[in-house]
Amino acid sequence: LTVLGLETSCDETAASVVRLSAAGAEVLSSVIHSQIDEHAAFGGVVPEIAARSHVEMIDGVARRAMAEAGIDYAALDGVAATAGPGLVGGVMVGLSYGKAVALARGLPLIAVNHLEGHAVSARLGAETRYPFLLLLVSGGHCQLLEVRGIGDMSRLGTTIDDAAGEAFDKIAKAMGLGYPGGPALERLAAQSRENGGDGSRFELPRALLGRKDCDFSFSGLKTAASRLAQTCESEQDRADLADAVQKAIARQLSERTERAMLAYAEQHEALHFVVAGGVAANKTIRRTLEDLATKHGFGFLAPPMVYCTDNAAMIALAGAERLEKGLTSDIDVAARPRWPLDEARANADPVHK
Ligand code: ATP
Ligand code: MG
Ligand code: FE
Repeated sequence: LTVLGLETSCDETAASVVRLSAAGAEVLSSVIHSQIDEHAAFGGVVPEIAARSHVEMIDGVARRAMAEAGIDYAALDGVAATAGPGLVGGVMVGLSYGKAVALARGLPLIAVNHLEGHAVSARLGAETRYPFLLLLVSGGHCQLLEVRGIGDMSRLGTTIDDAAGEAFDKIAKAMGLGYPGGPALERLAAQSRENGGDGSRFELPRALLGRKDCDFSFSGLKTAASRLAQTCESEQDRADLADAVQKAIARQLSERTERAMLAYAEQHEALHFVVAGGVAANKTIRRTLEDLATKHGFGFLAPPMVYCTDNAAMIALAGAERLEKGLTSDIDVAARPRWPLDEARANADPVHK
């Protein structure tokens, strides 16, 4: 199955062609136009600017993805577009474009939950077997899920306040680093280590310690770190604080994921753990979670770096997996600003046939 995927839920206009066969997923093209430069001056994504930019870019990006894949529209089996959750003005651009292509070429349309895209993204690098335990850590979400298959997931835990990526972004902003904050903070933390610095002199709160559930909390850390940022006098101070913040986020993710692993291992024979989403691009966090997985006898998998943050290959793949199961969408399917992942179950979902 060969599917064109479209992604416009935030500040990336992206299109990709993915072929799914018995051998696994093959990315024939993946084009991403980032709007970071357009939003950087505002320290975050401005919805109106994002929507207008998607309108300008989507046709060129989609045509480039088709050209780079080297195939004709006739070789496509379906068109997948993110239908939510996200900034609805942007989502509508990609979804409407997808509908137009589907109608013009007589192809099935597959409305894809953006989070379901992140959930399957590890499959773009290696064959992944269902079921697996998933930690989804992105700009807007921080969740632990049992993933039994496409459209068949249940949530084990979620953040009670901020997402992990949001914590990175907000703390980075308080420290005067650019947007997006995650990569900037990771670079600064690396400087601390290169200069023999040590973040452990900064005391940061450990949230939800001892709690038996698998939920997360980052707002206490955000407040404490933002206050400490005001006390930093040298570049080394700031680098050490960045190191401390990164370690604290990694520790919170690790502690809460450990709870989920223990519960998951009681109910499953095959133990596979996947981390996905933008924050999965963080090397310290990847390493911490890989160590944790090894400790508890879980296989560890993370998407290739380029497919951690937003891209359309993951949308095309989720679309292909849905198409394989016959889960296509009506042409009048609506964009959804909010769309929880465990509600994305096949058939139970009103937007799918
Ligand atoms: P969602 O998927 O929840 O709708 P989103 O699409 O905006 O949100 P992603 O594109 O998956 O989120 O990820 C972006 C987030 O990942 C940002 O918060 C960014 O700071 C964070 N991030 C990206 N790279 C890194 C990194 N190297 N270290 C830490 N955080 C990172
Ligand atoms: Mg983005
Ligand atoms: Fe995302």
